[in-house]
Amino acid sequence: MRLLLNSLDPEVAECPEELIVYGGTGKAARDRESAEGIRKELTQLKDDETLLIQSGKPVAVFPSHPFAPRVIMAGSLLVPSYSDYDTFSRLERRGLTAFGQTTASCWAYIGSQGVMEGTANTYGEVARRHFGGTLRGRWVLTAGLGGMGSAQPLGVEYNDGVVLAVEVDESKVDRRVRNSLCQMKAADLDEALFLVREAVGRKEARSVALVGNAAQVFRDLLKRGVTPDVVTDQTAAHDLLNGYVPAGISLPEAVKLRADAPEKYLDLSRRGIVEHVKAMMEFMHRGAVVFDYGNNIRHQAVAAGLPEAFEIPGFVSAYLRDYFCVGRGPFRWIALSGQPEDIYALDEFILAEFKDDEEITHWIHFAQERIPFQGLPARTCWLNLDQRLRLVQVITDLLRQGKLAAPLALTRDHMGSVASPWRETEKMPDGSDSIADWPVLGGLLNAISGASLVSIQQGGGVGVGYSLHTGMTVIVDASEISAKKAQQVTVSDVGLGIIRHADAGYTSAQRMSRQYGFHVD
Ligand code: NAD
Repeated sequence: MRLLLNSLDPEVAECPEELIVYGGTGKAARDRESAEGIRKELTQLKDDETLLIQSGKPVAVFPSHPFAPRVIMAGSLLVPSYSDYDTFSRLERRGLTAFGQTTASCWAYIGSQGVMEGTANTYGEVARRHFGGTLRGRWVLTAGLGGMGSAQPLGVEYNDGVVLAVEVDESKVDRRVRNSLCQMKAADLDEALFLVREAVGRKEARSVALVGNAAQVFRDLLKRGVTPDVVTDQTAAHDLLNGYVPAGISLPEAVKLRADAPEKYLDLSRRGIVEHVKAMMEFMHRGAVVFDYGNNIRHQAVAAGLPEAFEIPGFVSAYLRDYFCVGRGPFRWIALSGQPEDIYALDEFILAEFKDDEEITHWIHFAQERIPFQGLPARTCWLNLDQRLRLVQVITDLLRQGKLAAPLALTRDHMGSVASPWRETEKMPDGSDSIADWPVLGGLLNAISGASLVSIQQGGGVGVGYSLHTGMTVIVDASEISAKKAQQVTVSDVGLGIIRHADAGYTSAQRMSRQYGFHVD
């Protein structure tokens, strides 16, 4: 319940009054009545019962057993050949389903701090592969300062680069600057370019936000003959009606048109996205490093009449796959006590225990200095299986010694429990990109391994019809059973990611799989 309430906290959610957590219309519960129903059921739920949630609505409590999840969810799912945006929207309007994004409906969302290291690592790989290991003296042009997109300014700064982030909604820009997620707001494009060039010249890290429409600003830059070093985009382009604002109309006009004439709006968005992606491709042809940042913008452009959009690479296959093959990925822990000291105590352990891993220690120092907590204090750190198991053991030990004020929630972003052919599973070596058995196996496995919450959903990141994924959370307290659950779920969850990549043919994953004994002889 703490996690549900946290994901709807005004400091965390993008639009809590509509139960929208992030990522276009990703919701924590279907409607007010459902949210209240979930809250009530969770308050009464016993240790041998399980609450069932269907697309954000509580539907039943069944007798189960202490090792079973307390909550299981299925969200946004449709029969495959009905799984398209129009059908989903029609059913959503009738109150029969809700869009859960990736971590919104399963209450694992903790604001931009949750994706910050993933963003820093993506830009880090961009730096390593194209710029000799650093973004010092380089600049990134991007768009979207929403729930996830707002991790980009710090993600670039972490790699010593300069970023210009274009965001159409001025209130989001102001919120990010106020919360220290972005250093400054430029008055117009001229000032933005001045600030960018100044920092690039001085080889200083700097983040600049500009209020504007990305498609328009990208085109203006091309006209001026300006080529950034890196170009990407994190508008919520997976949802052309509710997540994307087409060029040529103001934000208030967009809000009105969405409600009054959705078909007309979608038409404008489709035409706008083609121009937007054409501009990204033109930057690529002029020498910029350009990549799709997980919002399905390439597919939207293809569907709207730009068949060459997939010449732009996707961020997972281009930059992050190697991490996932060896089971290193986004792991997060959330202090249910609400006390930052619980997080700092674990930071201390990590800094001592993993002192030889510079990626980890550098990250923890940076996170302490620069990443504000949003809602419940939490930390995200990319750890491998052995490191996660060590941390889980330490959390248990510290809880038993009374050195942590309350249980912690362990959760993660997606690594293996996801099928998303234009994102996490793009360009698998065996061509298995669209095979969706893995997330289902991941969900089942986590449920029998002792996860506290398991959720099987579709559409996260890239929109309805384009992904299937499984969320999991395990609550760690001082008890014996909790320690067992946390250890087992950690092995299952990371292990599933490793075998998914091993099965696709990655030798690094095959080595890991043999090392841990996951493989089938
Ligand atoms: P969000 O809905 O919270 O924010 C999207 C932002 O884009 C909004 O602030 C909106 O005002 C802005 N925007 C829309 N159209 C614009 C335009 N034409 N020009 C400038 N700004 C515009 O979404 P989010 O949580 O930030 O996610 C962004 C996208 O990234 C989504 O498609 C999401 O599915 C995807 N995503 C990516 C990752 C990742 O790690 N790369 C993770 C999760 C989600």
